Amino acid sequence: MAHDVTLIPGDGTGPEIAEATVRVLEATGVEFVWDRREAGIDVFASEGTPLPERTLESIREHGVGIKGPTTTPVGSGHRSVNVALRKELDLYSCQRPCKAYAGVRTRFPETDIVIVRENHEDLYAGIEFEKGSEDSAKLRECLEGLGAHVRDDAGISIKPISVYGTERIVESAFRYARDYGRTKVTAGHKANIMKFSDGLFLEVARQVAERHTDIEFEDRIIDNLCNQLVSRPEEYDVIVLPNLYGDIVSDLGAGMIGGLGMAPGGNVGDQVAVFEATHGSAPKYKGQNRVNPSALLLSGVMMLRHLGETQAAERMEGAIAKVIREGDRVTYDMKPSRDDPSAVGTSEMADAVIDEMNAA
Ligand code: NAD
Repeated sequence: MAHDVTLIPGDGTGPEIAEATVRVLEATGVEFVWDRREAGIDVFASEGTPLPERTLESIREHGVGIKGPTTTPVGSGHRSVNVALRKELDLYSCQRPCKAYAGVRTRFPETDIVIVRENHEDLYAGIEFEKGSEDSAKLRECLEGLGAHVRDDAGISIKPISVYGTERIVESAFRYARDYGRTKVTAGHKANIMKFSDGLFLEVARQVAERHTDIEFEDRIIDNLCNQLVSRPEEYDVIVLPNLYGDIVSDLGAGMIGGLGMAPGGNVGDQVAVFEATHGSAPKYKGQNRVNPSALLLSGVMMLRHLGETQAAERMEGAIAKVIREGDRVTYDMKPSRDDPSAVGTSEMADAVIDEMNAA
């Protein structure tokens, strides 16, 4: 049976890597009916919204989407498509596998971790008060009444972490571990300093862990976790984090596996999942057929697994791994030097993966 999937090419280099990904996914033999929908700066320019309602409706209807990156212009007033998508579809769990494939240039070849980041709460909840504003004066006054002094030249961001939000993100980390044969979940936090936000995260994480005694659980203070990740990455497996730490550690993880061009991801809710690379739209390379399609290809592999197409996922991942291992038909960022004349383009790297799948 064909899978109905919403395809959002995005903007910048998004359409190039999305097209490459569609070709490789189709070459697995799995049938797809693509419902192509717009999001990003191009549709913002023509319709005044970067995320039309019909795009959201399509994802709600099909339950699965794959998305190229989209640009968020600084200071335009146009809200981030990614933040809006996660909010509107309640995609609370951001899952980012960071695996160092053989052939990738990295000092951390043992890395094979999965970062599970909470997507809605924490300092990214958007509860902010501008320095000098009336609202920040009211808030400071209220805090003063509670015995907390904040300087009058301070901007303020609030960090809410709830039992509800923590329970479901930690549950989703254990579910991921069980579904994909992982054996340990590590929770990262700064509970020693932020006792009522990170402290709650840790307490709830421990309670959730008690329901999953077949999977090992441990916690690490976030700074120590970063230190250990770059000294003993092989000791880590699934790592569950509040929003801000999850954002930062995701890029750390991407750096450990060969860069942003290699880092896939999925934003997953209870009803809907949207798969996308960790990287952005890299607009300076737009239209040049230059950037690495691997991150979105590997996001496609995650989507295949999510759809229950496990064999196709294995074949596609195996072919990507082989192309990377051989190192001939790969993009500039995977070559020993960035101006290596033997680097191929986005589309040609996708061709190489298709050739490998056909040869296997
Ligand atoms: P970026 O990830 O687009 O690019 C940063 C650099 O990383 C690029 O200049 C390039 O050197 C490298 N890079 C990124 N993707 C690559 C690939 N596939 N292959 C090879 N090299 C790659 O980050 P940025 O420049 O900070 O952001 C550009 C735009 O993307 C911004 O508008 C930002 O808001 C947006 N963004 C979107 C998403 C998303 O749609 N999920 C995520 C992050 C950033």
